[in-house]
Amino acid sequence: MLPVFAPTLTPLPNDPDVVIVGAGTAGIAAARHLIAQGARVAVLEARSRVGGRAVTSAIKGHPLDLGAHWLHNGPINPLVRLARERRERLRLAPQERNLFIDGRPGGSLPGALIGRAFAIADRALRNAARQGPDLPAAKALPSLGLYGRQVTKIHGLISGRPFDQVSLHDVPDMDYGDNFFIAGGLGAYIARLASGLPVALNTPVEDIAWSKEGVRITTSAGTLKARAVVVTTPMAVLQQGVIRFSTRLPEALQNAIHCFTQGVYEHVVLHWPGSPFQGADRLSQLIGGHTEPPGLLSRIDGTPFHFFELDQPHAAHLDGRDADAPARFVRRVLSDHFGHRAIRDLSVCAATTWRHDPWSRASWAVVPPGLVSIRDALKAPVDDRLWFASEALSRAQWGTVGGAWEEGTRVAGEVAERLKIDA
Ligand SMILES: Cc1cc2nc3c(=O)[nH]c(=O)nc-3n(C[C@H](O)[C@H](O)[C@H](O)COP(=O)(O)OP(=O)(O)OC[C@H]3O[C@@H](n4cnc5c(N)ncnc54)[C@H](O)[C@@H]3O)c2cc1C
Repeated sequence: MLPVFAPTLTPLPNDPDVVIVGAGTAGIAAARHLIAQGARVAVLEARSRVGGRAVTSAIKGHPLDLGAHWLHNGPINPLVRLARERRERLRLAPQERNLFIDGRPGGSLPGALIGRAFAIADRALRNAARQGPDLPAAKALPSLGLYGRQVTKIHGLISGRPFDQVSLHDVPDMDYGDNFFIAGGLGAYIARLASGLPVALNTPVEDIAWSKEGVRITTSAGTLKARAVVVTTPMAVLQQGVIRFSTRLPEALQNAIHCFTQGVYEHVVLHWPGSPFQGADRLSQLIGGHTEPPGLLSRIDGTPFHFFELDQPHAAHLDGRDADAPARFVRRVLSDHFGHRAIRDLSVCAATTWRHDPWSRASWAVVPPGLVSIRDALKAPVDDRLWFASEALSRAQWGTVGGAWEEGTRVAGEVAERLKIDA
């Protein structure tokens, strides 16, 4: 599906100071900050578009995010601050949820019990992370009562892996109450931020080598030389060896790259005008039936579109099946909860497969229990020539565009300092 916005890009300079690999959020942030500091920058992007795991496409004429959609954690998210500076239209995500039990509105008591279970879980996670060893996060949860299973499942969905496969010390202390959506889609916003940048599309990087003299980057279209390189490709892509480092990476860094697991989070996009869900942009939770979906985002931007989210176990269950399997699965689950008549006007418009996309291979990078130091291990520059920057390096905002932007900016500052020393 084509993105709704394709920014105007500029040609690459002949003699770049810095090559940036990848024009996703981290690459765009790094390029903007380096250019603002006077560096000559060349961005090389494998896909035919910018934005990476943030992309907005038009479905039935409405802009819908097929990757990142929420601007999480408003107070610390640099993209929220930037959106305000640019006078972009932000809307605060509502706190109200739709809750259905066996296909009927759940009422206020179960809603309150779930809210309480979340609060208990958050407190327990925070305390255990502060005081104890780095266990599987699920092990830190006390008994959460009647709706504990749902709480654990939602934590697994937003972590990208079942909660017993996630490092307790890596669970972010997020204030879920302060999330935003942006008019026209988050992917379109990220793409706007790439306007005017020197980006070569359809240019996968194949090899990186460096020495005291500088770096050499080999692509499908030829070789570039520069003084520094910033690699922003997803961890899962690096794990597959898509880029060869013909100068050897330090052992500790290679180990860190290979320790991440693949976070899986996929959208099945529904058009369902007659859905029972109330209110715009609400999370909807379905309890009961044979299958409890981990979560839906309903009536996106007040439209008849909804995301039925797939967590890692549900996505894995659909792997190896035909392309219509997600649609059949969603229809079966929703008719089980609401009855066949209720889904007569439901159509499934798209089902994402970021986990199989050759340029992402996952939705984000997850830290397994006991390995919390791997994000920081990637922050050290290699021989003052090569830097990594992506969502995977952010401690406070991993798995988000805010974290990717934060890391792209941080690395740009370090590289700019280095270039001054070199000059
Ligand atoms: C379905 C889904 C929902 C999500 N929801 C949210 C959300 O609501 N809010 C949120 O904040 N985050 C969300 N995320 C996560 C968010 O999308 C990512 O954290 C963020 O986009 C990562 O940015 P990045 O720059 O680190 O990586 P990317 O966006 O992946 O950018 C890396 C770039 O490198 C390119 N590349 C890869 N290999 C090569 C190569 N060999 N040569 C050249 N280029 C290469 C890729 O094409 C890509 O453009 C979601 C992700 C998914 C998949």
